[in-house]
Amino acid sequence: MDTADSTLPCDAIVIGGSYAGQSAAMQLARARQRVLVLDAGMRRNRFAKASHGFLGQDGRAPEAIAAEGRSQVMAYPNVHWVHAVATQASGERDRFVVIDDTGHRWQGRRIVLATGVVDELPTIEGLAERWGRSVFHCPYCHGYELDRGRIGVVATSELSMHHALMLPDWGTTTLLVDAAFDPDEAQLASLDARGVTVETTRIRSVKDVATVALLDGRGLVFDGLFVATRTRVSSPLAQQLGCAFETGFSGEFIRTDEFKATTVAGVFACGDAARTAHSVALAVGDGAWAGAMTHRSLLPI
Ligand code: FAD
Ligand code: MG
Repeated sequence: MDTADSTLPCDAIVIGGSYAGQSAAMQLARARQRVLVLDAGMRRNRFAKASHGFLGQDGRAPEAIAAEGRSQVMAYPNVHWVHAVATQASGERDRFVVIDDTGHRWQGRRIVLATGVVDELPTIEGLAERWGRSVFHCPYCHGYELDRGRIGVVATSELSMHHALMLPDWGTTTLLVDAAFDPDEAQLASLDARGVTVETTRIRSVKDVATVALLDGRGLVFDGLFVATRTRVSSPLAQQLGCAFETGFSGEFIRTDEFKATTVAGVFACGDAARTAHSVALAVGDGAWAGAMTHRSLLPI
């Protein structure tokens, strides 16, 4: 079929064409299904120069991994790719309609939501500009490159204890409490046992590579900062379709069962948008399974 003809329903509309969406699209393409990928091109890791921890691609630029994935997916003639934002989704199993930001109407028998999440950073001056460069959230992704240097953990809530207790394995760690929570005696004792310095003076700004300027005028020089962001699913499509959500440690995500099916028949979800632990490897694995299970749902079995 010519998937560009939007009057014909495709078998699956994959919304989000990054790691999870590409991986789902690939399984569907290889099953000779007619696939439409709608992608806005705003990968979560677009701020980082290098991606780490994904076997076979360790240290490679995030956009290079995505570009190679896309070209492998697009080698299948039954995949049609549209650079657009899906703004509305409605309908039911076998009869879904997705409208994009150009007003185009696409019809599909299944929907795979692979929209990823958006990070909400604390509003500290200088922090957002350094996101993905010297301010990170994932020690496994960016801790090793700090070469056991000076690490600051900018607390956003009591959950930052987790970061503070992990990061001594990657460098000399200071927890900048910044009035985000009030560590109790037991927490202070575990921080002390891990050799973590606790700084309670409020943060004014971040400057240079990762120097934290405190309200009392001191400047603490770090090689990198870690901050636990709040995450939210990138688009309202799952709500529009009526999918249930659940709460993970960084925010809400789309509920799926062991087959990556959401609570709405015919709608699947994968990647950061549909799980609580996030990485490229997990998104690719999740997408592969979602693609295969979406295909299975199209069979009369
Ligand atoms: P994403 O990669 O976020 O892609 C979602 C896609 O869906 C985007 O292209 C987006 O534009 C599109 N989209 C969303 N809504 C719509 C819509 N309505 N219509 C059309 N398209 C839409 N992980 C690692 O494993 N290693 C690392 O080194 C690493 N470094 C990171 C550094 C930073 C700064 C950040 C923030 C994250 C990092 N991660 C890393 C995590 C990694 O980026 C995510 O786990 C991964 O990108 C999730 O893939 P995904 O396909 O689920 O979502
Ligand atoms: Mg094609």
